[in-house]
Amino acid sequence: MDPSHRSRIILDDTTLRDGEQSVGVAFTIEEKIAIARALDALGIPEMEVGIPAMGAVEREEIRVLAGLGLKARLLVWCRMHAADYGHCPGLGVELVDLSVPISDQQIEHKLGSDRDRVLDLIRREVARARHMGLSVCVGFEDASRSDTDFLLLAAEAAQAAGAERIRFADTVGILDPFQTFAIVGRLRAALDLDIEIHAHNDLGLATANSLAAVRAGATHVNTTVNGLGERAGNAPLEEVVMGLKQTMGLDTGIAPWGLPPLSELVARASGRPLSCQKSLVGSLVFSHESGIHVDGLLKDVRNYQGVDPRELGRSHQLVLGKHSGRHAIQHVYAQLGHHLSSELADGILTALRHHATQTKRPPVPEELTRFMEQARAEINPVCN
Ligand code: MN
Repeated sequence: MDPSHRSRIILDDTTLRDGEQSVGVAFTIEEKIAIARALDALGIPEMEVGIPAMGAVEREEIRVLAGLGLKARLLVWCRMHAADYGHCPGLGVELVDLSVPISDQQIEHKLGSDRDRVLDLIRREVARARHMGLSVCVGFEDASRSDTDFLLLAAEAAQAAGAERIRFADTVGILDPFQTFAIVGRLRAALDLDIEIHAHNDLGLATANSLAAVRAGATHVNTTVNGLGERAGNAPLEEVVMGLKQTMGLDTGIAPWGLPPLSELVARASGRPLSCQKSLVGSLVFSHESGIHVDGLLKDVRNYQGVDPRELGRSHQLVLGKHSGRHAIQHVYAQLGHHLSSELADGILTALRHHATQTKRPPVPEELTRFMEQARAEINPVCN
């Protein structure tokens, strides 16, 4: 399938909705405003900003966000009944995700309903919401465990009732990219409306499944900054932006250099610090220690560079440690103004290895100076 059916994939960031559903995460209105403004400044075309049925405070905060004059199109999340989306007029948000369970598991054991009644519900409620002046995305909850034939029927019903988009939710995060590609491909072939992928990371496959859905013809991707969200979270915005670019050459219109500061902002506001190893935005993901890699990078950076850190406003860092080679040691010390002989570099490596195993961290400059002095003293012992 050709992802170029549309010139640009639309990212719909749900940090302020599914992201806030992470255990223990709750944003103040000031934090919501800061996150919304940062997403908007980055060029995110859509963001999901809350759940009107949660109450008057949530609705007031949605109104505040809608009043910021953001360029992004905003949407809110509602269950598929009028008591939920009936709160929407007056919020300043015209697009709603109307969520309906679509797997037999959830239809029977959560909704207490059956397939025919769900089809009737979709026909009736989408039409009613449209009559209220709302634009509708139908969110198929647990779509990944639904019968695809029934999912198609439901999507056709949504389309006929006036929905402009469906959201394919891998609610429990069980798909792999091949399965995602196959199902979204079937939906794409049968439907005219837009298709959004909403992936969860329970198997660590949320980004992979999002990219697979785009390859199969999905037009929209639901993301969260840092992959916040229920359980293991959603597809991380930063991974989806760079993944679409790197693997498919697709430009999302989002400035990658703004992603690391946004990640820090959301890490602080969510109380969820980033792992140093978090792809693209973790503090150590462009740092290199092993002798073979550092030597290769110093010869030609392309030897070990997949993603160019400069795109993210970052740079490669050479770190000394247990796996350092002579070349790296000489390079790092040269930056500190010391030009080492091979013999001295080898002496320093002994001290570096001891330091690394004891402290589990790279040495600071004062420690490097001490290692050099120790190694020098061992090579040229002072005779009294
Ligand atoms: Mn979700």
